[in-house]
Amino acid sequence: GAVRRPLVLANWKMNMAPDQVKPYLATVLPEVEKDEAADVAIAAQDLYLPEMLSLTASSRLMLSAENAHWTDDGAYTGETSPKALAALGVDYVLIGHFERRKLFNETDERVNLKTKAALKNGLKPIVDLDEDLSAYASADPKTVVLKQLALALDGISETAMKNVVIAYEPTWAIGSGEAASAEQAEKSAALIRASLANLYSPALAEQTRILYGGSVTTKNAADFLSQEDIDGILVGKAALDPKQFLELIDIAQ
Ligand code: PEP
Repeated sequence: GAVRRPLVLANWKMNMAPDQVKPYLATVLPEVEKDEAADVAIAAQDLYLPEMLSLTASSRLMLSAENAHWTDDGAYTGETSPKALAALGVDYVLIGHFERRKLFNETDERVNLKTKAALKNGLKPIVDLDEDLSAYASADPKTVVLKQLALALDGISETAMKNVVIAYEPTWAIGSGEAASAEQAEKSAALIRASLANLYSPALAEQTRILYGGSVTTKNAADFLSQEDIDGILVGKAALDPKQFLELIDIAQ
């Protein structure tokens, strides 16, 4: 979509050794500065964020956490505070990634609470909607995604929504090597946008960025990015290689 700035987001997940962080950024940062047509961000495990923040201090590259708790602080051993992330200077936080929903019991209710907590602290939440296979096979395959959308955004104002990014990810495409077709993904992104128009307003829907994620590669990225309602890509595996991430940034420019 022409009115929306594309966002290219790498999701490192629980990958990358400590000594790989600096060389990765050294490869990618010059490309990020070259052209300003797209936003670029990396989601990394919390451990790496302080070092990455200092290495990217004078760069347009933005950083994202992969998860954050729904309260600012308290007796939640092992959790990450959205307030602390914001104080460090982190820009984005992934909320409700498929792996969090599936492996760590992230419910729609918690996704909603975490989205609100992120917004309250000035972080930009990237809210993940995951479409599973059974939903895909059912009579109304998009119901699950649109329900997730409504539940995730429950009680969030239109003003706050200006800082929310939506990521649409078919679960069967995540890490599988089998991406959705650009047409399939566009259909879902358009439905999500129509739903945003209903929940908020056509104007809000028009300006909200919707990313596609699921086995994006340097070969299929351009197809996704050229779709009317797809405003960026969320990339796992392909983005672990800095050269491929470079190429993906290039494609989005
Ligand atoms: C993801 O982490 O959200 C993802 C889409 O991973 P991959 O690109 O490896 O499918």
